[in-house]
Amino acid sequence: MKNIFFTPGPSALYFTVEQHIKAALKANIPSISHREKAYVKMQQETTEALRELLKLPDSFTIGFTSSATEVWDRMCENLISNQSLHFVNGAFSEKFHKAALSQGKMAKAIVATPGTNHDLSQVEIDKNVELVSLTQNETSTGAALPVEDIITLRQKYQDPLLAIDAVSSLPVPKFDFNQLDSLYFSVQKSFGLPAGLGVWTFNERCIERAESLRAEGKYHDSYNSILKIVKMSKKHQTTCTPNVLNIYLLGKVVQDMLNKGIKQIRQEAKYKSALLYNLFESHPRLNPFVTEKKYRSITVGVAEVEGGSEKLIRALADKGLNIGNGYGEFKNKHIRIASFPTHSKEQIEMLVDEVNQLDF
Ligand SMILES: *Cc1c(COP(=O)(O)O)cnc(C)c1O
Repeated sequence: MKNIFFTPGPSALYFTVEQHIKAALKANIPSISHREKAYVKMQQETTEALRELLKLPDSFTIGFTSSATEVWDRMCENLISNQSLHFVNGAFSEKFHKAALSQGKMAKAIVATPGTNHDLSQVEIDKNVELVSLTQNETSTGAALPVEDIITLRQKYQDPLLAIDAVSSLPVPKFDFNQLDSLYFSVQKSFGLPAGLGVWTFNERCIERAESLRAEGKYHDSYNSILKIVKMSKKHQTTCTPNVLNIYLLGKVVQDMLNKGIKQIRQEAKYKSALLYNLFESHPRLNPFVTEKKYRSITVGVAEVEGGSEKLIRALADKGLNIGNGYGEFKNKHIRIASFPTHSKEQIEMLVDEVNQLDF
């Protein structure tokens, strides 16, 4: 029986990854030095493909980190002098808030009840806030912010740096990079790659902030500090030995996504998510956790299961269909189902059919 992973990350690998790993081994990619020409060319190919897929302006730097979690620390170190504001709507947005507190920042949080989201047209931001954090797709609850709402907030408050966590949604949402300053993701979610690589994109405003902190003697020169990333990325290199294999695989998968067409990927994402929420709404034992439709994640569907989620998760796993349990306090109450670009319409249809037929 072949296992299919609908877990929200790590998840199923993008369907071409196996073939790219074989090619990488043949080409000795894991053994090449990250200071050699062959590597430099490879990193350049990956970043150029990513720029094309995301429509990322040339003014944005692309940096590689070990994870998205690392990006939180890097932002706290050198983009926030005193005060940040975190829109918390679940576990991941909360973790960034805690990371800022642990670095001694005056990090404020506005908290939305899990399953709901912030009405960004109503919020007030204090003028001392230097960085605003939004989690576009809160993987723990399945609550997402529409890109248009993010733009509305940005237009009202242009001074603070705007940092977006798009870890479990990219490349599905279409961001306008002129309306944000920092955006990051990990590759083991929607890109369908093995874990162990974070991607951090940021603009000149972030660089200027770090430079002015340096001038004030407040710059933290850690191993992946932002200005080191800037310097090395100009040479298509990293500050230390990176996850070379994953940077190679990311370039290949992004190229495959470009060949398929981002429009097609986005259309399919809508269809698959409609199937999932239709299941959550029509099944007698399931309820969508995010009730307000506008805030429903398109890539991670979360449902409450009446009577608990364990039996359903186990029954599906017995059939090789692996879905996620709830996050944290919702562990045994929720199911979380990823519909990432690698998940075909047919696979989601099959999963929905199975849930409808199962007696759990
Ligand atoms: C998974 C996840 C993270 C953390 O990613 P790591 O690769 O584990 O560091 C951060 N934010 C969101 C929304 C996530 O889903």
